[in-house]
Amino acid sequence: MIYDFAVIGGGIVGMSTAYKLKLKFPEANIILFEKEQELSAHQTGHNSGVIHSGLYYTPGSLKAENCFEGRHELVAFAKKYNVPHDICGKVIVATNESELQHMDRIFNNGLQNKIEGIAKVTKEEIKDIEPFVEAVAGIHVPCTGIIDYPAVVNTLAKLVTEDTVPVELKLNSKVDRVEKGEEYNTIYANGEGYKAKKLIFCGGLQADRLAKLDEVKLKEKVVPFRGDYYELTEQAKHKVQHLIYPVPNPDFPFLGVHFTRMTNGDIECGPNAVFSFKREGYSRTAFSLKDTANALSYKGTWKLLCGNMGYAWMEYRRGFSKKLFLKTLQRMIPSLTMDDIEKGRSGVRAQLLGLNGETRDDFRIEYSQNSIHVLNAPSPAATAGLAIGEKIVKMVQEMV
Ligand SMILES: Cc1cc2nc3c(=O)[nH]c(=O)nc-3n(C[C@H](O)[C@H](O)[C@H](O)COP(=O)(O)OP(=O)(O)OC[C@H]3O[C@@H](n4cnc5c(N)ncnc54)[C@H](O)[C@@H]3O)c2cc1C
Repeated sequence: MIYDFAVIGGGIVGMSTAYKLKLKFPEANIILFEKEQELSAHQTGHNSGVIHSGLYYTPGSLKAENCFEGRHELVAFAKKYNVPHDICGKVIVATNESELQHMDRIFNNGLQNKIEGIAKVTKEEIKDIEPFVEAVAGIHVPCTGIIDYPAVVNTLAKLVTEDTVPVELKLNSKVDRVEKGEEYNTIYANGEGYKAKKLIFCGGLQADRLAKLDEVKLKEKVVPFRGDYYELTEQAKHKVQHLIYPVPNPDFPFLGVHFTRMTNGDIECGPNAVFSFKREGYSRTAFSLKDTANALSYKGTWKLLCGNMGYAWMEYRRGFSKKLFLKTLQRMIPSLTMDDIEKGRSGVRAQLLGLNGETRDDFRIEYSQNSIHVLNAPSPAATAGLAIGEKIVKMVQEMV
């Protein structure tokens, strides 16, 4: 059997790609490999669960375009297939005057990206939305929402595996070898070879390793950044109604520790962004010699860490100190106490890093011969997943 497409990775990007391929090529034989025993085991299942509006991203960038399109598609999909979600809106709050200039920049960016309904709000108006927040001004973003991303992936999986020509789903199947060929490629998992005409790699935290396996020359490396969450205890849940974000630090690609109401009713605070010693490690002390050696033998990691020593050290300390974490949260909600938060889960972000320590901001998807590689799909790639899948289908058509 020669498959038309093999997709590697059972996160939201891989599964959206399989879904979009099936819509475009209903008769195609597709196989999807996931190394874990379940889907969404990594970034997709460890994220904040936010449907991003798209207001932060550089106009014209892949992030801006795919987030906007992906959000609309995602919400329509969630409505059609009853995936738990809620378009509850969010506020971005400036907690001191020095943040106002950057806040204005974000607002203007949002206008350029045509984000529906965004409005500047005064501190009094913020109080109407979030009574416990102390801020000087903010932006209200009504089209931001929350969703259960693993449920999205499971729904996509159900649709493609129950199709007339079903996608073959291979769990517990780590792709560890690729043999290139003229007519087809052979990929190996669990010692077995599978022939496929086109390969689409959506490996998230393993994207650079999969590129290497497929003989793609990549100057950058994936460097993992862990994000820890705390949860509001039952007694404090009334202090957050929707989603509350700070004005992000413009020097870093992360949005800053925020408050997120989840679809299950929990309220999470986080994530921070700490260099991780393990790509797929979900505790504060997780360590992998291979991953650490890989990251620390790379010039880009040192350039990034040394160039931001103060920030990196502060993030590291905050990763271990509830008191410091609380202090950050109190900038937005001063009445929070130590008893109001308890340790939650963690996630690890894949960030493509250049040799000079520069984080690659935009999504990056490349193709060569018969392979497509999703090399950088950080946030908001969960929101944008369906649009990324669509983009990949267009690339496939260009390749034909
Ligand atoms: C803490 C955190 C918070 C975030 N918050 C948000 C948010 O609120 N909203 C948002 O839009 N985005 C958010 N993101 C980003 C978003 O989660 C990711 O951009 C998105 O999930 C990427 O999906 P993916 O499919 O590329 O990667 P993943 O979900 O990591 O999936 C990749 C899959 O490939 C598999 N794989 C890897 N190598 C192999 C191999 N050799 N063989 C077989 N399978 C393999 C892995 O096991 C994995 O399941 C957040 C991310 C994190 C970490």
